[in-house]
Amino acid sequence: MKFAVLTIFPDMFTRFWEFGIIGRAIKEKKISASALNIRDFASGKHRTTDDRPFGGGTGMIMKPEPLAKAIRFAKNALPGASVVLLSPQGRVFNQVMAGQLAALEELILVCGRYEGVDERISEELVDLEISIGDYVLTGGELAGMVVIDAVTRLIPGTLGCAESAQNDSFADGLLEYPQFTRPRNFEGAEVPEVLLSGNHQEIEKWRRESALIRTLLKRKDLLETRRLKKGEADILRKWLRDIETILENQSARSAAGPLSGDQ
Ligand code: SAM
Repeated sequence: MKFAVLTIFPDMFTRFWEFGIIGRAIKEKKISASALNIRDFASGKHRTTDDRPFGGGTGMIMKPEPLAKAIRFAKNALPGASVVLLSPQGRVFNQVMAGQLAALEELILVCGRYEGVDERISEELVDLEISIGDYVLTGGELAGMVVIDAVTRLIPGTLGCAESAQNDSFADGLLEYPQFTRPRNFEGAEVPEVLLSGNHQEIEKWRRESALIRTLLKRKDLLETRRLKKGEADILRKWLRDIETILENQSARSAAGPLSGDQ
C-alpha cells in the first residue's frame, strides 16, 4: 500500500512514520508513506491556502486551486489511488471500511483545516469522504493518522502475528474476549481458571462466550445488526433461560411474603 497525505502541516507526520507497526511496515517496505505540503502548490508570495467564505460568515475555507494541484500531483505519482477527504461529514470509519481500504494498492488522504475545503474539491476530485466520528477536529491530520494506522495493521505481513487481527474487536462483529497476562494473582484478582487449564477446546469455548456476553453488555448495537454464528444463538438462549429462572425465583419469593427470602 502506498499512502500519500496532503496537508498544510506535513511535519505532524514525521514522527508518526517512525514508530511501532507503521515504522516497521515502512522499513520492511510493506507500505510507503509520504506527506506533501499543500502550501507547495499555492501561488503568490505568501503561498496562501485559505480565503474568506463567499456569502460571509466566520472562519476561512481552503482554496480550491492549491488543493486541486496537490491532488493531481499525487494522482500522477499514484495513478490507481482513491482520493479520500477527511471530513466530519463523511462516512463514519469502522473496521469493515479499514479492511476494504487495506485491499487497495494506493491511497491519497486529503486533510482539511480551518472551516473545511471548498465544496468543488469534494464534488470533483474526491472519491470518498471519511469521518472518524461525530465530533469536529481542528484538522484532518489526526483523522488521517487514525485511518492509516487502522488500515496498515490489516495489510498482510504488517503484524507480528496475523491471527491477532482476526481475533480483534470488530473483526467478526464482536468485541474481543478479556485478556490476561502474568502474574496469575494481581492484588487478589485471579486469572480465570480455564485459561490455565491447557485445555484449548475449553479455552476457545470460554473466549467465544466471553466475547459474546461482553458485546451484549458493552455494545448491544453490534449484536443487533450481526448475523449470529453457529452455536451463538444457543448460548444467548441459555442466558435468557437463566435470567428468566432468576426472575421467576424472585417473583416467587416476593409472592411468598417479606420474610421468605434472604436467609
Ligand atoms: N466546518 C466543518 C464542518 O462543520 O463540517 C468542519 C471543519 S474542521 C474544523 C477542519 C477539518 O478537520 C476538516 O476539513 C476535516 O479535514 C477535519 N476534521 C474535523 N473533524 C473530523 C472528523 N470527525 N473526521 C475526519 N476529519 C475531520
